[in-house]
Amino acid sequence: MDEIKRLVISEQAQEDEVISISLRPQTLHEFVGQKDVVAALKIAIVAAQQRAEPLEHILFSGPPGLGKTSLAHIIAHEMHTRITVTSGPAIQRAGDFIGILTNLEKGDILFIDEIHRLSKTVEEFLYPAMENFKIDFIVDKGPYAKTINFNLKPFTLIGATTRSGLLATPLRNRFGIFHHLEFYQQEELATIIKSSAVKLAVDIDGPASNEVSRRARGTPRIANRLLRRCRDYAQVNPSTSLRIDTEQGRSVKAGQNRIDSTIVLECMKALRIDEHGLDDLDRRLLKVIKTNYQGGPVGIEALSATLNEEVDTLVDVVEPYLLKNGFLRRTSRGRELTELSLKHMGESVYV
Ligand code: ADP
Repeated sequence: MDEIKRLVISEQAQEDEVISISLRPQTLHEFVGQKDVVAALKIAIVAAQQRAEPLEHILFSGPPGLGKTSLAHIIAHEMHTRITVTSGPAIQRAGDFIGILTNLEKGDILFIDEIHRLSKTVEEFLYPAMENFKIDFIVDKGPYAKTINFNLKPFTLIGATTRSGLLATPLRNRFGIFHHLEFYQQEELATIIKSSAVKLAVDIDGPASNEVSRRARGTPRIANRLLRRCRDYAQVNPSTSLRIDTEQGRSVKAGQNRIDSTIVLECMKALRIDEHGLDDLDRRLLKVIKTNYQGGPVGIEALSATLNEEVDTLVDVVEPYLLKNGFLRRTSRGRELTELSLKHMGESVYV
């Protein structure tokens, strides 16, 4: 058990990123779920290719880990173009942006993650770039101020945001294509887990992939992360390495490269993830609303202060799944518990 905890703690964010890149689907065909989005993108791609034009600017919104970045890479791949990747917080000043924009070739894709976090000045700088493929840059100040115009090659901007509500209307209106990604169905996640297992060269049986998918909060990134933790668990925990296959009446090697539902359940217990995918932070949030705020309603700022967690983490990462699955209700006066969450807290084995 301690071994696993240490493994989890020592997990490097960077390693996480490298592995998740290798698990990324490469083509629209490989991309599981989001059927309507995929169908609409296929049409837009074929139409643009037939006209030999760049795609219109695209905005993807939805909670983290649902495939917005993957789709941007897939679109570049399907359009046979280059992709430049940056993010809202990485572009501090309009000047930083000139180099990026002037280096784009015709049809190139510029992917801006967390586009809602662009500063106001950079955002306004982007409007003419998106609309007319031109930028005006003012150098010097006062009487020496000069405007320099740059003509850009027609490119496609793909923006991703976890909060489309925070996007200024003029920016939103400059996207020709807009798609909201929804949480995935359990069967879709099970398909993703099976194909990731093949890429990671680990064997997972049907019941085990169903167990993982049930706990993945409708999110492929979490499904892949849990699969990797189960792989660690199978490899390291000695109690899982040899088990009697009762049906066949023979000993089988369950550990090493083979994940079955017993391994998944033990691993989830070690990670304190329950059968609905809720973890300690989810449970802490529900418990704080119950004990400190009598079940709500309570404002997000107050919750953030009591839990000592960022508002952004609560709004982007924690809440969407709880709201979608009826564990939490959002009213004009704040967040409230539901019958389901009260029942869940009463039955939970985790305290
Ligand atoms: P986002 O940009 O929305 O945060 P990503 O595109 O980075 O999400 O997806 C996170 C990971 O989840 C990817 O690396 C990929 O492995 C996996 N993933 C996301 N969507 C899918 C999908 N539809 N099919 C297969 N894997 C997916």
